[in-house]
Amino acid sequence: MLIKSILNRVQTHSGFVYGAAHWRHFRGRTVLEIQIRPRRASRPICSGCGQRGPGYDVLAQRRFEFVPLWGIAVFFLYAMRRVDCQRCGVKVERVPWAEGKNHLTTTYGWFLSQWARRLSWKQVAEVFNTSWDNVFRSVKMAVAWGLTHRDLSTVTAIGIDEIARRKGHKYVTLVYQICWDFFRLNRSN
Ligand SMILES: [Zn+2]
Repeated sequence: MLIKSILNRVQTHSGFVYGAAHWRHFRGRTVLEIQIRPRRASRPICSGCGQRGPGYDVLAQRRFEFVPLWGIAVFFLYAMRRVDCQRCGVKVERVPWAEGKNHLTTTYGWFLSQWARRLSWKQVAEVFNTSWDNVFRSVKMAVAWGLTHRDLSTVTAIGIDEIARRKGHKYVTLVYQICWDFFRLNRSN
């Protein structure tokens, strides 16, 4: 089975296809690189307004880290196109697998941030052979997503406490949601 068919099973990107996969020695380890290319005749999406527009030029190839496969680091390689957008001028295209200048794919960011709920950030970095910084960025992304999508309408009761953070007079204010805990306790009974 080709790596390509595994990837097409786990994640496809509208308007793009996976190309060849090959091994490469990168920063002291052997990694798997997979080329991504736009579908023929597909027009790039402007990162400014989200509309498709005519291509302007193509930038140098970038690497995007994806979820490791069997302990092997996986990178997507893609040369971003620039869009000649009617509204925004010349803009880099938007790609579905990563946000802005992030070199981690969104899927890998979610993967790391989910593990960071179970292990310390340092442990996550060690286990997945990545940097603490990558774990930090991933958690930041997940928190930002959570803040944008949070729904406070179900919160009916909160508690507020002041707790000592360390010896001396350093305090933090802790706000917690009582109704949700109550609901969870009841469900587990
Ligand atoms: Zn635009």
